[in-house]
Amino acid sequence: MRFFSGQHTIGILGGGQLGKMLLNITRQWDIRTKVMDPSDQSPCKISCNQFVQADLMDYDAVIKFGEDLDILTIEIENVNTDALVVLENQGVKVYPQAAVLKIIQNKCRQKEFYIKNKIPTASYQLFESKELLKDAVARGFVSFPFVWKSESMGYDGYGVKIVRSNQDLENINEGKCMAEDLVSIDKELGIIVCRSYKGETQIYPCVEMEFHPEANQVEYVLSPARISKSIAEKAKKVALSASKAFKHVGLLAVELFLTKEGEILVNEVAPRPHNSGHYSIEASYTSQFEQHIRAIMNLPLGRTENKVAGVMVNLVGKEGYTGPVHYKNIEHILAIEGVKPHIYGKKETRPFRKMGHITIINKNLDVARKIAEEVKETIEVISK
Ligand code: ADP
Repeated sequence: MRFFSGQHTIGILGGGQLGKMLLNITRQWDIRTKVMDPSDQSPCKISCNQFVQADLMDYDAVIKFGEDLDILTIEIENVNTDALVVLENQGVKVYPQAAVLKIIQNKCRQKEFYIKNKIPTASYQLFESKELLKDAVARGFVSFPFVWKSESMGYDGYGVKIVRSNQDLENINEGKCMAEDLVSIDKELGIIVCRSYKGETQIYPCVEMEFHPEANQVEYVLSPARISKSIAEKAKKVALSASKAFKHVGLLAVELFLTKEGEILVNEVAPRPHNSGHYSIEASYTSQFEQHIRAIMNLPLGRTENKVAGVMVNLVGKEGYTGPVHYKNIEHILAIEGVKPHIYGKKETRPFRKMGHITIINKNLDVARKIAEEVKETIEVISK
């Protein structure tokens, strides 16, 4: 392996916090890295060997970035996949593969993929435009309430809206979209599967996500999820079937709905490290970041069980504060046992911006969850 203390290089498209946490592993293993991101303030900048500032959708920039790489991975899905196809043909190992990214980048194509591969998902109808959707509503082919999802560029709920009335319908964006059945959700669950080039898979325990009611961002991630064994098994089966269908290399984070009727449905997947797996840095035998690096380098995969229970709290910018960030009371939460903050290194805060996360580890999940609440109430992400 000429990557360890060698000249071979792993490239990462995207220089955000997910990339930064991947770089913790490449630093630990002394592996050369190159990162591309549009922002010269990106969190990855301090820990990669080489940084390129460019637009991730820019075909020429991605080709140029990838040409001298041995392995190329991503930490965000919105990258130029046509360029990735070219790089694959030139012999660069692109993981996740361009074909996987092409499906996942587009919510409608992703849905069609689930149907084709008999992966359980909420029912939906596709529309070429907002006008056609409105027309279908007027004719009674689609009825309120439903979930509108824009074909592309969705992130953290921005391309998703629950539509309950004609007024809501007016407020959605133009463009190709789908109308999805509003699922009666009991819990939102997540499972991360890692798959190597040879098809070896390792699956992480099912986690449970609690959402912030207004911002529609994950507030707590609990590992393991508080669900029965049979539900956990069902969720695992569905996640593995998605992994098998995509034939991805690296991580696949599968977001699931547990319905009030006890059904498991796939919401969406991400072929990269995921917010729902951050707990694994402290709580698992192998973190999701180490596992991803192992998989894309064709190394043996590590164990995925928890050593202890983990609860993750997202550190998001407090409403009403924009500007240079200040983590108020961080010293108080560090006095509590098992509290592990991660600060992403973004200099400016704004309302609900993901600035970091905190993992709370404890032998007892309920204790960890209680501490997580205390942590959340104590620390404040504000501007000075
Ligand atoms: P994004 O890609 O922007 O993160 P998601 O598709 O994950 O968007 O949806 C964001 C959130 O919206 C989900 O976590 C869930 O809470 C809610 N949601 C999405 N689809 C449905 C649905 N069909 N029924 C009910 N709630 C949904």
